[in-house]
Amino acid sequence: MGIVLPAILMQVAQGITRKKPDSAQETIQTEQTELLQQTTVAEVTFNLPVLMANGTTVQMDLEDYITGVVLAEMPADFEMEALKAQAVVARTYALKGYCGKEKHPGRAICTDPACCQAYCLPEEFLSSGGTNISLQKVADSVSQTRLEVLTFHSELIDATYFSCSGGRTEDAQAVWGSEVPYLRSVDSPGEEEAAHYMDTVFFTLQEFADCLQIDKETLSGNWIGDITYTAGGGVENIFVCGKVYTGTQIRQKLGLRSTAFVITAVGNTVTVTTKGFGHRVGMSQYGADAMAVAGKTYEEILTYYYQGTVLEEFAI
Ligand SMILES: [Zn+2]
Repeated sequence: MGIVLPAILMQVAQGITRKKPDSAQETIQTEQTELLQQTTVAEVTFNLPVLMANGTTVQMDLEDYITGVVLAEMPADFEMEALKAQAVVARTYALKGYCGKEKHPGRAICTDPACCQAYCLPEEFLSSGGTNISLQKVADSVSQTRLEVLTFHSELIDATYFSCSGGRTEDAQAVWGSEVPYLRSVDSPGEEEAAHYMDTVFFTLQEFADCLQIDKETLSGNWIGDITYTAGGGVENIFVCGKVYTGTQIRQKLGLRSTAFVITAVGNTVTVTTKGFGHRVGMSQYGADAMAVAGKTYEEILTYYYQGTVLEEFAI
């Protein structure tokens, strides 16, 4: 039986210890309270405040919450090692928000996938066609990684993730403008079966001009100018009608799936082909599944996509 301690106690008691310490001196950070030091029961639970879609805040057991995130964020038919990698990433993302960069004052995290992480109740998963076997598989992926997180220099990392890179992930600096040592561009093979590995969208010249808020009449001659690319194969800068845009700006203005795009224009039609889906920084979910199929463990998957990080146990 576990012991549920008040959330306020959890806040002062949290710290990170190495997953496999060689000795007591290996402990990186401990802020154990007197009460926790006296606790002899191994398993305690951690309540996370979660802002639900209806605006209410629910104190949710961390591992139950992570199960709901994995159900919502990754297909349950993915390989077990990929699901375990997703569980660690989701847990790290949630606790990072709880410990520091709170997007929602007083709340750890919300269930909006466009803001924080998607979340699905087990009963919702089952009522929408999920099976009990799949539900158990996801629950196992969470329990087998219980309290495990990723750190860099003993700090929880920004565990960003996305669906599909299109073959190579992106540097954080290329997308968000600031360098993050563990969010570097890496190859991500084996994603070809992903739903949005490659997409093509079409615009009329007028539609294209409207998206960029420019005069359609300027789209004549060689209006697509020089293009530079990022390490991850995304468009860094592109000249359109003599004006420079970043790849991120074009992605936002045209509503593209990624910044890895090619633009061609013939007659009245502008064709934009994209590779990948998402910001492409951090772990590729389809790439993680491909690595798992190839026999990699979840720790190998995680330390590949987040270079230089360490898998540790979050001490509560
Ligand atoms: Zn949020």
